Amino acid sequence: MPENMILGADRDGIRVLTLNNPPINAISFALSKELVAALAAAEADESVKGVVFTGAGTIFSGGADINDFTTEPTAETKTIRDVIAAIEASDKTFAVAVNGNALGGGTELSLACDYRVCSPKAKFGLPEILLGLIPGAGGTQRLPRLIGAQDALQMMLKGSNISAQDAKAKGLVDEIATGDVVDAAVALVKSKLATQPKRRVSAMAPNLGIAGMGLFATPFVVAQAHKMVPPEDNGGLAAHALVDAVAASLENDLEHGLAREFRLFDTLVRSKPSLALRHLFFAERELGKIPGLPPADALDITSAGVIGGGTMGTGIAITFANAGIPCTIIEPNDGAIERSKTTVFGMFQHQVKKGRLTEAEAWQKGQLVSWESDFAELKDADLVIEAVFENMAVKKDVFTKLDAICKPGTIFASNTSTLDIDEMAASTKRPGQFVGLHFFAPANIMQLLEIVRGTDTSPQTMQTAVKLGKTLRKKAVVSTNAFGFIGNRMFFDYAREAVYMLEDGVAPERIDKVMKDQFGFAMGPFATFDLSGVDVFWHIQQERAEALGEKRTNIIDRMYELKRWGQKTGSGFFKYDGPNKREPVPDPEFAKLVAEEAAKAGIVPREVSDREIVERLAFALVNVGADLLEKGVALRPGDEDIVYIYGYGFPPHHGGPMWYADEVGTKYVLDRITAFGWTPAPLLARIAEHNGTFADFKGELIHA
Ligand code: NAD
Repeated sequence: MPENMILGADRDGIRVLTLNNPPINAISFALSKELVAALAAAEADESVKGVVFTGAGTIFSGGADINDFTTEPTAETKTIRDVIAAIEASDKTFAVAVNGNALGGGTELSLACDYRVCSPKAKFGLPEILLGLIPGAGGTQRLPRLIGAQDALQMMLKGSNISAQDAKAKGLVDEIATGDVVDAAVALVKSKLATQPKRRVSAMAPNLGIAGMGLFATPFVVAQAHKMVPPEDNGGLAAHALVDAVAASLENDLEHGLAREFRLFDTLVRSKPSLALRHLFFAERELGKIPGLPPADALDITSAGVIGGGTMGTGIAITFANAGIPCTIIEPNDGAIERSKTTVFGMFQHQVKKGRLTEAEAWQKGQLVSWESDFAELKDADLVIEAVFENMAVKKDVFTKLDAICKPGTIFASNTSTLDIDEMAASTKRPGQFVGLHFFAPANIMQLLEIVRGTDTSPQTMQTAVKLGKTLRKKAVVSTNAFGFIGNRMFFDYAREAVYMLEDGVAPERIDKVMKDQFGFAMGPFATFDLSGVDVFWHIQQERAEALGEKRTNIIDRMYELKRWGQKTGSGFFKYDGPNKREPVPDPEFAKLVAEEAAKAGIVPREVSDREIVERLAFALVNVGADLLEKGVALRPGDEDIVYIYGYGFPPHHGGPMWYADEVGTKYVLDRITAFGWTPAPLLARIAEHNGTFADFKGELIHA
């Protein structure tokens, strides 16, 4: 009896095979084996004239099982390639009845068939590039033949899904069913049996796509023109392989094209970028699992309030509106309210301009945000988040007031970056319903959310926060209530090393260039400081000097005095005097200032190699990351990686700092850290002793 597939009754000689491998009908080794057997049975049965594939539930298929990529096949193993080979070898007629999303292998299976019918809500996509791969079951050869190489390449380079309507317009599907999709597919196959039973994509001629583009419009040129192909060594390995595979589809011989695709796929599946991206895929699925947390039912948040309509409060309110949750901002300052309104409406208008929202949708979302000055407006809110000034007394005052006004069930949250959640919770009578929700600026754009678990935060409040994170479409990472939580705490060590190298005589533009252009960060460290504000950093230095490491010079104090606070004052580590006031421009004045301060501190300039720049910065993150793991501040190395990818622009193809340590070898990291004269985190030292990996660290050492 098949376990992952349902064998339906034949309908007038048409056999229906239903993929039934929840939750995503993955075409795993096990399902492939059943499909191959079912196809052999259909082949041997003369009464069967055609076969229709469909999916159980609401999805057709999410594609191959990613876990199978690292499973060594045995002689008996069957994969989706074998399923497709069986279809290609058969004379019968094949169709898909795509009932929901057909992604990756799901789309590739449909491309191997003669006809494609789908429901109006179905989507098609080949998102392999997002995992550093290319389609590996003929997608790079068949999709270009069917819809043209130009369109196919763009679709695969973006890795995004297309709607049924788009798929129909491009010729990817033959029919959008108005009624039952399986009935429609069966009817289509029956109607074709007499006239044109076979219409294999594999038999179609190579197809460039856009007529009259001229000889030079190779897919590669087009991809470059669209700036869709980053350098190979900077995460663009799969994009280059994709261009190569699609170029092969333009040659006559399908067999050669398939062989080229398979070879490229097999190289990529073992490549460092793909391993890193797959690590992130799995790390994301672990988020929100909190070992040892007693079970509790998460509450639904149906209305929210935000205290403070500044940068963060406004961004948080937009985030709630985007998720369809009404949100009231309490802001006493009229000027701030005006700015907040301009930001909210400007944001939704921008979405309309970009074609992401209709006017009506933007209006509806805009209506979900309201501005008030009286705390009493929040008495019935399910959740209130404070985003007022970073000052404990102000925050406690806010919570004391809220505690007296809000219904007993209201959950309180703080968006503080550095203050103690427990101290704030203690100012209320509901410490169990108190949690940190640390959004990143701009809150409506940045995907990271740190959920800060206070000493008394109840299991139900934690589960509610985790569920809310999903509703708000955030990557929600749980941290304990430690200074700087995970992200900023790690950033302080990174910042310290960057400033040290500056003091050693390395220009900020060089450090930024190496980290951005060579290593792949979204932004260099100094452009990041200038964006978040040197004044903010200075304040932290005043209050928590011990967390920032030994201070060698007064450079940050001088910058503070001189109002070199970054972008907001027009100068910081760079100057911002270009046309848009946002481009960092190297500033000779600043170079003089650094040289002066370094000389005063007796620091002699030294040569620093590009490799040292990368290693000092990346390994600073690893060392502090190991420390936070051991202290239980972060639950898993993968959580820290997610924080750095989604909150700080760490290059995804290196998988986050902890994965990067595994990639270069923990022993190597330890050796370098020792050579830099740092004290290695004990956990790093223990893992490096046997050149182990953080990936194998399952938290068992946390409480050892
Ligand atoms: P901001 O100065 O832009 O906004 C604060 C707002 O709070 C102001 O509009 C002010 O009028 C209002 N406010 C002050 N006291 C109030 C009170 N008692 N009641 C109601 N409103 C009051 O500050 P921000 O950058 O939005 O930061 C807010 C919080 O978020 C801080 O705790 C900060 O550490 C944290 N945070 C900031 C960032 C960032 O990058 N800006 C990132 C993460 C977290």
